[in-house]
Amino acid sequence: MSEQNTGQYSQITIIGIGLIGSSLARAIKRAKLADKLVVYDSDPQAFEKALELNLADVFETDISYAVETADLVILAVPVGAIGIVGSQIGTYLKNGATVTDVGSVKASVLEALQVSVPSGVHLIPGHPVAGTEKSGPEAGFAGLFDGRWCILTPPEGADRTAVQRLTEFWTAIGSTVEIMDAEHHDLVLAITSHVPHLIAYNIVGTASDLETVTRSEVIKYSAGGFRDFTRIAASDPTMWRDVFLNNKDAVLEMLGRFSEDLTALQRAIRWGDGDALYDLFDRTRTIRRRIIDAGQETDAADFGRTHED
Ligand code: NAP
Repeated sequence: MSEQNTGQYSQITIIGIGLIGSSLARAIKRAKLADKLVVYDSDPQAFEKALELNLADVFETDISYAVETADLVILAVPVGAIGIVGSQIGTYLKNGATVTDVGSVKASVLEALQVSVPSGVHLIPGHPVAGTEKSGPEAGFAGLFDGRWCILTPPEGADRTAVQRLTEFWTAIGSTVEIMDAEHHDLVLAITSHVPHLIAYNIVGTASDLETVTRSEVIKYSAGGFRDFTRIAASDPTMWRDVFLNNKDAVLEMLGRFSEDLTALQRAIRWGDGDALYDLFDRTRTIRRRIIDAGQETDAADFGRTHED
């Protein structure tokens, strides 16, 4: 890639070449953002697949060699593994390098990495708000981050130039960057992503445990709405286990609110309060409209859909 590098980092190293890591590798290649792109993954199958797909310039089997000359190190492993990787690479990081991550939770990641990332290395956690229910290097694609948000959560006192450089990197990848503090990120994502996933896992689990409706009926009539929950509930179990274990407080707070509102709905159904039901359903339609207007979703009809997305 060397002579065409349009980015500000000479060597970029990605640790973890799954859905997000491999999408980033493809997007880095597409936008020519590095002289040298290095990948490392502890999973031999993912590593082999990434090699076969030619996703990087160098495929490193030793994590210390992977990071020691890197200008930007991106940790794209499950949230529960980020602290472990931090402790493996801490002493090998180059002075002046930037370490970031793509984890779906930010406060616990920041806390875990602050222990091992030495001073002289810029620690700027991040979270691209983009993804699919698929995992692994073959599931990634270069356009995953196009038109999506990437939230950066630099700690207090972070170097402004380093933050600006990382912002420019994500912009070149196709995203729009927002800066937030880690705790606020976790609260926002608890309601927009984490609790919806929990609800999907729960409803699919409940349906599969029902005794009065057979499992084949659940599958047969799934287009009634259930199908959309199953897509979310097919998301990677390791990733989502780690999200809930690491964003406990914010998720429990939002779940408390959710349960109260659900109880109010239950009451409205029990007492035949059609106005209360109508008012809520009317309000939620507006939210959907605003998401489409914000370019975060298409207007295509989805129930009984035939299109691939
Ligand atoms: P993924 O497809 O499962 O890829 C993660 C890769 O990291 C796997 O190959 C995994 O190997 C490897 N790995 C695990 N522990 C490691 C370690 N200690 N050292 C090196 N490699 C290790 O997961 P993903 O969906 O890309 O998610 C990666 C991160 O992105 C997570 O933190 C997640 O919260 C965040 N994220 C995900 C999405 C999404 O929609 N998926 C969206 C935004 C952010 P194994 O297979 O052996 O575990």
